[in-house]
This record gives sequence, structure tokens and C-alpha cells, in this order.
Amino acid sequence: MPAVDSARIQADIDALSEFREPDTEGWTRRVFSPAYLRSREWVASRMREAGLAVKQDAAGNLVGTLPGPSGGLLVTGSHTDTVAGGGRFDGPLGVLAAIEVARCVRDSGRALRHELRVVDFFGEEPNDFGLSCIGSRAIAGTLTAEHLASRDASGRTLAGAIASAGGNPDRIEEAAWAPGSVSGFVELHIEQGPVLADLGVPLAIVSGISGIDRVQATFTGVAAHAGTTPMDSRHDALCAAAEAVVAVERLASAGGVGTTGRLEIFPGAANVVPGKAEMWAEFRSIDGAWLDERHRSFTQAAAEAGARRGVATRVSALSRTEPVTTSAEIRDAMSAAIEGLGLEFRVLPSGAGHDTVQMARLGQVGMIFVPSAGGRSHCPDEWTAPEYVEAGASALLATILALDSR
Ligand SMILES: [Zn+2]
Repeated sequence: MPAVDSARIQADIDALSEFREPDTEGWTRRVFSPAYLRSREWVASRMREAGLAVKQDAAGNLVGTLPGPSGGLLVTGSHTDTVAGGGRFDGPLGVLAAIEVARCVRDSGRALRHELRVVDFFGEEPNDFGLSCIGSRAIAGTLTAEHLASRDASGRTLAGAIASAGGNPDRIEEAAWAPGSVSGFVELHIEQGPVLADLGVPLAIVSGISGIDRVQATFTGVAAHAGTTPMDSRHDALCAAAEAVVAVERLASAGGVGTTGRLEIFPGAANVVPGKAEMWAEFRSIDGAWLDERHRSFTQAAAEAGARRGVATRVSALSRTEPVTTSAEIRDAMSAAIEGLGLEFRVLPSGAGHDTVQMARLGQVGMIFVPSAGGRSHCPDEWTAPEYVEAGASALLATILALDSR
């Protein structure tokens, strides 16, 4: 099997990054933008050049196939859309390295024992319709009629947007793959955090993808004059909320992460003791029991903070996404493959969501991370050094070959 050609991948990263929205900061290529739609023709042509038979499905996914005997699909890929002001590596790396894997297989003249599919999942990043992972949801069979009916600020439906991007929302179910059809799915992605870059380690095997527990807390006290109300007769809603914010930080100190990302204060004037405060917070972990415990502890801490001040407290559950554990069998194949390459790796959880979460509904999944310089992502200076790109693509190829020989 020929080794991956990192110059070829780098040239593809450079070429794809030129498809970007004009007059927008960074390397922006949002789903449904003209730049994104043009870039898909280029990605399809790179897939064809790699020897893949390419089809765009009803959800807009690009699926490149290298036929093989039946008995479970081997699948690899990621996404090529970006956030506004995004970078060149979040998503594209996993698609372009997957195409390089197909090129290596083609150049080897060797026939795989499984059908290999390379997927450029349509619209992974959050969009104006409030949904992420459009394409992988459709493949997993979880893109619902309710999702398709959601509207952006201009009133356009998601179904209409998918149709104008060349998909067929009326036949969205045709994009779904059969549960159990995937023998192994592997996604190569940048870490989007600082751990690997700080260690100087080229690779991580992803242990799982964090679940997310989001809560909203409302603190209702008594608005009062900031000059005339003595300190010991106040019911300051914001002070109770502030204690709850610190509780999020304290509770998240081991086993996961926790963030209060939004706080609103009423009436919101410097000379008024706050009568009401609302906070939005989340906990993330790959351990579902940890999330349950943090949810309970936060609810209790918020109630106690309110009670100390005579402030009424209400905590509501906003949303819950369960963690996804990667397959132990795929992690084992990965670690053997990476050791075979003589490369170092760590085992890390993913704090960000990925198309892999949806693919886990169809079969065993695994993910490989490569370092993000400075831990930076979703910004124009997102960067992964060429030697790490090569390490990631090599690990992806070796993993696919190991899974093929199972
Ligand atoms: Zn991504």
C-alpha cells in the first residue's frame, strides 16, 4: 500500500479553501452559500479522480463509493462547510484525507474486502435553521419532517433550502442507510482544543463524544433603589445568580466541563438592585451519570443560593444530548495501526459534536484527532501543521486497512 502523499492533501486543502464567501472574514463557506455549492462540484471531481463513483443524495451529501463485496460498509468522511469566520481545517481535513485514502487504495491496485464509502456530509455546522448535521442526520434517518419545516429569518424552509442546493427533500428517506449497514465509520478531525498541541503529540484516539445537559435558571428577587435599600434588607436576584455561576465552575472541575454562556439582568440599571436574573448554562461529559449528577447538584446549589437571599429560584432543563462512546474494537484497531506507524497518541474525549454522533446509529464508530495550533478553531487562523496532517491521514489509512482485514 503506498503511503499517503501529504503534498497532495495540502494542495487540496489550499484549493478547497479558495471557495469562500466574498466580503466575509476568514475562510467562510457556510452551508447553502454560493461558495459552498460551487465547492461541492470541486469535491465531487476530486472524488471521481480518486476512482470513486460519486452520487449526491436527497439530503445533499456527496457519497463516493469504491465497490467491494457485500458484508458491511467501511465509511470515512467529514464535512466541508464552515462557521462564519471559520478556518480551513475543521471538516475539510477529514474529507480530503478520506479522498487521499481512496487514492492510495486505487494506486495500490488492491481490492478491499468491504465497500468503501467516502462521505462529504452536507451542512454539519449550525445554520440559520437552528440545526446542525443536516446530512448525517438524513443518512442516520433522524432528519424529521419537523426539521424540514423549520424556517430561517427570511421565512424560507429547510426543505426549500435543501431543494435549491440540489437535494430532494420530498424523498429525504432515500438518503437514509439501513441500521447495521455500517461495519465501521472513522472520522479524522482537528482537535479544536489545546491538549495535543500543548503535549506536542500528533494524534489522539477519541474515547467518546460529550453529551450536553443545558439548563436555564431564573432568580426572582425584589427590585429596589440602589441608594436607599440597606444591604441586609435586599433580595438581590443577581447575587444569587452569581453564586450559581460559580457553582457551575466548581461542579465542572473534574470529569467534564461546565459553562454559563448567557446571563440577563432585569431591570439592568446601575442604580437598581436587580429584581430578576436569568442564566443559561451547560455541562458536557462523555459520562451520562456525571451529567445526571451535575444537573442535580446545580439545581440544589441554585436553590440554596436563592434561599440565602430570599430569592425565588426556578431551574428548567433546556435540552439533553446523550454522550456517544466510540467502539472499543475500532479504538483497538486504531491503536495497533498507529503503533505500526511508529507514531505517538493519547486518548481524549471530544467536547464538540461531530457527524460521528449520527453515524453511531448505524454501526461502530471511531474518531482520530490531530492537533490544532494554539488550540484555536472556528477562527481564520485555525491551523494544523503539515506533519500532523500527514500523521492523521496515515493513521486514517492504516485504520481503514486494519478494519478491512477484520
Ligand atoms: Zn467539524
